[in-house]
Amino acid sequence: MAPGSVYLDYNATTPIRPEAREALLRALAAPANPSSVHAAGRAARDLVETARAQVAALVGVPSGSVTFVSGGTEANALAIESAKVAGFERIIVGATDHDAVIETAKASGLPVETWPVDANGVAHMAWLEAALKAPGRALVCLMLANNETGVLQPVAEASALVRAADGWLHVDAVQAAGKIAIDFSALGADTMALSAHKLGGPQGVGALVAGTRATLSRRQHGGGQERGRRAGTENVAGIAAFGAAVEAASRDLPLMAPQAQWRDALAERVKAEGAVVLGEGAERLPQTLCFAGMGFGSEIQVMTLDLAGVMVSAGSACSSGKVKASRVVDAMGRSDLAPYALRVSGGWASTEDDWNRCGDAWIAAWKRIGARRREVA
Ligand code: PLP
Repeated sequence: MAPGSVYLDYNATTPIRPEAREALLRALAAPANPSSVHAAGRAARDLVETARAQVAALVGVPSGSVTFVSGGTEANALAIESAKVAGFERIIVGATDHDAVIETAKASGLPVETWPVDANGVAHMAWLEAALKAPGRALVCLMLANNETGVLQPVAEASALVRAADGWLHVDAVQAAGKIAIDFSALGADTMALSAHKLGGPQGVGALVAGTRATLSRRQHGGGQERGRRAGTENVAGIAAFGAAVEAASRDLPLMAPQAQWRDALAERVKAEGAVVLGEGAERLPQTLCFAGMGFGSEIQVMTLDLAGVMVSAGSACSSGKVKASRVVDAMGRSDLAPYALRVSGGWASTEDDWNRCGDAWIAAWKRIGARRREVA
């Protein structure tokens, strides 16, 4: 990252925490196949099992509930495929859930119903109650925190309904983990997806947490790694770093409170300029802000801020790097704002100055755009 630049795109990926980097490099320094029975193999096994205990502690489950996978996308896929194999007949998906869930649900071949959200992006509980009365055991997928707006979903409330209907509740907690405290049992989840690179670990490693009601199927065939659920030599260094990041993130949870203050200060500044904050009426992650300035296209905003040394994200960016109108904002009934949504997301290394500089850069750009619009008129 260029010196002096501001990185406020933690929901895309976080800078790696020093503890995670150290764990990664330490693990890479030794030959490490956890299936080998010699001393080096046993040391590698220790790294994996220590990390498993660290990840389990993050969400309050026994270590055996954690299966390591390649990231949040694969964790979601393992849950959805497992529910299908277990005989679930239909899938209900939150309208603002991530594509990793929505597209995997569609690809499963099972009927998929979209669970609508209100104007704040919160899932309608009455809709779920009615939907669960229809025939067919349902896998219900609801994210814990939204990647674009930070809006938290009423997962525990949904769980009561899903359990009463003998369903399976899958929770994508990729964005919530490391930012708010998570208690797997209190949420009543059956499975939960986690990803290392959203909480200060490296990319390409994540976990699926499964409770006692969920039976996971075999995703990859071959060796017996991860209790036969996912064959293939473990990503030992990545897993060790994931564990170290999780421990540091849990320790640092209280440091998220100032992020909320700095985020809210930025929100007030952009609102004073006429921007609309999305999901403001709902409980949200402490470090995420999504707002839209009417007429100021997301892609132009991202590029203008980038030129000013401030890295943020459009509401939604696809893998090609192209910016498209935010599907999440659309689902909240604000299709008028969807092409203009901007996401600012901080984290463990963000400072008040970062948030202030983002505000300065956005307001300067907004004023320039406004002046140009006035010239044209
Ligand atoms: N779920 C959510 C809510 C996300 O924000 C993301 C990544 O942006 C994913 C899943 C996918 O995670 P990964 O990049 O680890 O595959």
